[in-house]
Amino acid sequence: MILVLKQDAKPEAIHQLSDQLHSMGFVVQEIKGEHTHMLGLAGDTTQIDRDQFGRIDIVDSIMKVSEPYKLAGRKFHPEDTIVDVCGRKIGGGNFVVMAGPCSVESEEQILSVARDVKASGASFIRGGAFKPRTSPYAFQGLGLDGLELLKMARQKTGLPVVTELMNNDYLEEFARDVDIIQIGARNMQNFSLLREVGQLKKPVLLKRGLANTIEELLMAAEYLMAGGATDIMLCERGIRTFETSTRNTLDLSAIPVLHRKTHLPVIVDPSHGTGYWHLVEPMALAAVAAGADGLIIEVHNAPQCALCDGPQSLTPEVFHQLMKKIDRVRAAIAED
Ligand code: PEP
Ligand code: MN
Repeated sequence: MILVLKQDAKPEAIHQLSDQLHSMGFVVQEIKGEHTHMLGLAGDTTQIDRDQFGRIDIVDSIMKVSEPYKLAGRKFHPEDTIVDVCGRKIGGGNFVVMAGPCSVESEEQILSVARDVKASGASFIRGGAFKPRTSPYAFQGLGLDGLELLKMARQKTGLPVVTELMNNDYLEEFARDVDIIQIGARNMQNFSLLREVGQLKKPVLLKRGLANTIEELLMAAEYLMAGGATDIMLCERGIRTFETSTRNTLDLSAIPVLHRKTHLPVIVDPSHGTGYWHLVEPMALAAVAAGADGLIIEVHNAPQCALCDGPQSLTPEVFHQLMKKIDRVRAAIAED
């Protein structure tokens, strides 16, 4: 961390400040240029309250030089994390597709979609049992009954289950019955939920919040990891912008940015990222080309009747064609 000092800072005040910083355990280095005067701080600056430092009379501004996400960052963990869920590897060159309906609606629906996506090559079945809906009058999911149906789908197809946990009420059931716990976009900064889920030490798919920066996403991952979790996958699912032609703006540049900053796998959700089924294929292929470690895609056996997110859901046939194209893009970009 660097403290940039005001032009008129008096030498006595600077000495006093560096003594104070020394006594706090930092190594302090004075950097003096023709027009600038700075103090460089080395040591554990994670506990520093930046606002408090900003109030010091002679401090003009504060610059961070190292990231506050020590566990999620690449700096102290240069190798890619490879998450292993029931033998399916994700990250470090291992690619997966998670697919299924937005919400679990019935036994027939989830079984039929699970069988279809498996036949097309998906490695996980997704489906919400607890749904975060904008309207309190909209379908809220089948709850624990939905979780039972997901277990049945796993038992019949062998596909591990990805499903969203919305609050701290069902930690025990999710720890027992779910293979990847999804933290939804609306809960990315629900810090008490992140702390509790981190302690379960289960694989987590952490979705980027609607209006959150990449750094905030990494700090949310840090919460999970500070609790003890290691198998975290980050999910780019589109962010809010002024654009209204798509449901969200899918930030594909987040893929290479995240790969530089973190060792955690990056999954892309082109369904919520675009909101329209006909945009899912081009954006899914673009995400693969940009280096995504996996995709999560909504597929419904009858999208026109879906209780949630029908317009962005692929039919099993369209999904099947997409899977073939994904293979071709992966082959095209594979390193020799
Ligand atoms: C979902 O995956 O069904 C979902 C609600 O996603 P998000 O949290 O990204 O909106
Ligand atoms: Mn959805």
